[in-house]
Amino acid sequence: MDYKALAQLLFPDVTATAEELESRFPKRNLPEGACVTRIGPSPTGFVHLGNLYNAIIAERIAHQSNGVFYLRIEDTDNKREVDGAVETLINAMNYFGVQFDEGAVADGDNGNYGPYRQRQRKEIYHVFAKQLVERELAYPCFLTAEEIDAIREQQTANKENPGIYGKYAQKSRSLTLDEIKDNIAQGKEWVLRYAGTETDEYINVEDAIRGKLSMPRNNMDFVLLKSDGIPTYHFAHVVDDHLMRSTHVIRGEEWISSLPMHYELFSTFGWETPIYCHTATLMKIEGTGKRKLSKRKDPELALSYYQQEGISPDAIWEFLLTLLNSNFEEWRIANPEKSYLEFPYTLEKMNISGALVDLNKLRDISKDVIGAMPAQKIFDSWLDWCKQYNEQFASLIEQYPERTLAALNVGRTAKKPRKDIETWKQACDFMSFYYDETFKVFDEMPQECDEETVKTFFTKYLASYNHEDDSNAWFEKVRAITEEMGFALRPKDYKNNPEQYKGSIVHTTNMLRIALTGHANAPDIWEVSHVLGEDIVRGRIVKYC
Ligand code: GLU
Repeated sequence: MDYKALAQLLFPDVTATAEELESRFPKRNLPEGACVTRIGPSPTGFVHLGNLYNAIIAERIAHQSNGVFYLRIEDTDNKREVDGAVETLINAMNYFGVQFDEGAVADGDNGNYGPYRQRQRKEIYHVFAKQLVERELAYPCFLTAEEIDAIREQQTANKENPGIYGKYAQKSRSLTLDEIKDNIAQGKEWVLRYAGTETDEYINVEDAIRGKLSMPRNNMDFVLLKSDGIPTYHFAHVVDDHLMRSTHVIRGEEWISSLPMHYELFSTFGWETPIYCHTATLMKIEGTGKRKLSKRKDPELALSYYQQEGISPDAIWEFLLTLLNSNFEEWRIANPEKSYLEFPYTLEKMNISGALVDLNKLRDISKDVIGAMPAQKIFDSWLDWCKQYNEQFASLIEQYPERTLAALNVGRTAKKPRKDIETWKQACDFMSFYYDETFKVFDEMPQECDEETVKTFFTKYLASYNHEDDSNAWFEKVRAITEEMGFALRPKDYKNNPEQYKGSIVHTTNMLRIALTGHANAPDIWEVSHVLGEDIVRGRIVKYC
């Protein structure tokens, strides 16, 4: 058969050559050792935690080496595509502080190695597809879905590997040029298949995370182009990562089984294979075992969950870094003041046995991260979040900026600063008592204090209250009322002789906390009172008198 003629028949519009593409996208001019990495998400509208997990690895590898990190949109599967998905993805990455140097942006491309959306690269793939046909390494296949089903049934019955290869490829491979022309003239659909070789060989690929992967060499006539001329992931990955000059391919471990196809294509084209880094699947604990996070069952698989909950991007980074590198936590303890971006991230310290997503751990990290933030940063980030997710709170913060900032500072100067805020969503609950508009009393007065006692206590408190008192003077007055009303000044005394007292100072101060904040467990009463201001304090107390 005349393969040049076949190539021309299949790809009449291709005029560019592989050489032209090589020079249009030259090797990048980067310092020795600089890595070029990317993420290649599919725009399905669902951005998952794994996208961010891989993005953080790729970003770190690139930026720690003064390399380039880019975004490629892998939209070859139009059945899965959803309107606005690219924007959703870019916004989510942006929210979590992932900075791309180049790649797809909301309204186009930024960079010289594009287009960065695979559907816009059809002509580029066709140049290489045509070349493979000319080299007798690819051919059109007209098998119908029914024929393929029948082959699969036969293979299942014979306990053979499924797929088109060897004798199962014979029918398509032996078509003559005229038969192919006829089929095309009749409008029959075709896909372009790679012409695999039957082999018992093994290939060895060095994975930067997993070490040597030894796998049977590809023998499949796998699909390169689908019937609409759009490439499969396999073909697009190889062409793109070559032309965009990626040095490392960071992707989920679900791709390991397709590696022989990718390796085959890189060798066929004579291109250098990138360094593969197959990352562990995200898991969660269930009962006594672990299982894969599931889109259906686990809201925490969606990145939007963390946005809606208002998890700070810094907390997510710290959390994912603890999952990614086994020595991160140790480093964090030794370097409490440093930014996580200073952590020397390495692929060698990656965990391969499944990364455990434990939301309790995330909450703990989150409290520490927010606990260590300056109040102004909390103010700004929380307000940004509220503008999108809680408008009522956004306007309260904007209406009372000074009070809010002062409130965020309460308890933060102590030796062991309070860590009351976990997420921006929970901050709206926690902070609600600082505004009359949202203040609610949640806890009941202590059982030691009946209605009469509550009334007498607050009447005395209000009579002696002087907003100018410093915290010592204020506390002396509370102690005096406590004693006068028959409550023990030392909780121990009440415990040892309960019949001699009504209760202890724990109960009188709890009454104050509940009246002023709605909760028995709250920050320092004197500090809170000074954030609220005299009018609000008196207003909340007088209700009990
Ligand atoms: N489009 C692939 C996915 O969403 C990306 C895999 C890769 O990064 O190569 O899983």
